[in-house]
Amino acid sequence: MKPYEGTDYFDCSELLTDSEKDLRDKVRGWVEKRYLPGVSDWFEQGIFPVRLIPEMAGLGLFGLKLKEYGGAGVNSTAYGLVCQEIERGDSGLRSFVSVMNSLVMFPIARFGSDEQKATWLPAMVRGEKIGCFGMTEPETGSDPQSMRTTAVRRGDRYVLNGRKMWITNGEIADVAIIWAMTDEGIRGFLVEKGTPGFSAHPIKRKFSLRASVTSALVLDNVSIPAQNILPGVEGLRSAFMCLGEARFGIAFGTVGAAMACYETALDYAKNRIQFQVPIASFQLVQRKLVKMLTEITKAQLLCIRLGRLKDEGRVRPVQISMAKMNNSAEALKIARTARDILGANGISLGYSVIRHMLNLETVNTYEGTEDIHALAIGRDITGMNAFSCRQE
Ligand SMILES: Cc1cc2nc3c(=O)[nH]c(=O)nc-3n(C[C@H](O)[C@H](O)[C@H](O)COP(=O)(O)OP(=O)(O)OC[C@H]3O[C@@H](n4cnc5c(N)ncnc54)[C@H](O)[C@@H]3O)c2cc1C
Repeated sequence: MKPYEGTDYFDCSELLTDSEKDLRDKVRGWVEKRYLPGVSDWFEQGIFPVRLIPEMAGLGLFGLKLKEYGGAGVNSTAYGLVCQEIERGDSGLRSFVSVMNSLVMFPIARFGSDEQKATWLPAMVRGEKIGCFGMTEPETGSDPQSMRTTAVRRGDRYVLNGRKMWITNGEIADVAIIWAMTDEGIRGFLVEKGTPGFSAHPIKRKFSLRASVTSALVLDNVSIPAQNILPGVEGLRSAFMCLGEARFGIAFGTVGAAMACYETALDYAKNRIQFQVPIASFQLVQRKLVKMLTEITKAQLLCIRLGRLKDEGRVRPVQISMAKMNNSAEALKIARTARDILGANGISLGYSVIRHMLNLETVNTYEGTEDIHALAIGRDITGMNAFSCRQE
């Protein structure tokens, strides 16, 4: 079979280093060979393929940016390219990789004690321990400052109470990073699987990210040692730093999902005959394909610039917001257009587009909805905060 070359209308690959391209191609090959053949069944059955975790660890997909503890120590652009290739497979797989790298290993490495780092990071790099990130609650999503989960200090322990909702990896996680309100503001805690009072429950009847584990977490008088607090956390700002890492990966990842949809639609349009000609010969269909390719190209260029700014240490959170907001929204539109081009076949799991389309509904919402990112950028450019209409 001819190797997959990937949509690259503006030769963006020329802007990458050899090592970035090598890593991208290695992950691309693994996704082609090991993940794509099974994903539509996993999606249909609502299964995350945990048996692939050791292979992913073998590829170096956990702790990608970590320079210690056995991590691959790659730059941010390379991390983004990995997300792109993984999400060309499925947003559920990319969610797993994002949570592990950006939402679990990043906060432990950045805010954890030496003991916490030594306990968790090497085992996570090897894929032997899994983590999750518990911030969202049944009543608070976009406004985490209002979270209701509490952590109260009692001697040399903390007691946590609350509920977390929509938590990726919840049931398969060995450790949960739980964000909770304390007397001193919001703090992050490591809560281990099996701690009395702590449980994870599947969220069923999902029509999006079906090949991913999504859970509700319950914390009823969960008593943990005081040393399980992440000592370097300084309020919600620290949680937002983790989200910034994850959003960066989503900006790249959604390009991968969009590429998969565009390529499927282009191939289908060239081969589907209606009115005695391929539908790709119709002007209306070409217009749609051109729009899809144009948006993919713009998103690719945005990502490369974003990656370079991050690697130079001068990216701003609002720039990550803009890339996450734009690329998720455009990928969703591209998936919907691809679904349209495939006609009735567009709703079948025999093609990837309906799966990507349904997944991208989540991706457009999680890690800050399109509107929330627009508000962050709006505040930055006007100096006026439009997040709340409430008059003080
Ligand atoms: C499959 C899946 C996996 C997830 N994984 C995780 C995870 O691992 N960890 C985790 O902590 N969370 C996770 N989430 C939760 C996700 O981050 C939240 O769903 C997201 O932040 C939005 O919160 P919400 O659903 O409560 O929506 P809400 O905040 O209730 O928003 C509802 C609507 O109101 C709009 N809105 C809200 N505030 C404003 C405003 N000020 N101005 C204008 N419009 C506004 C929003 O844009 C949106 O359209 C996941 C979600 C899904 C679906």
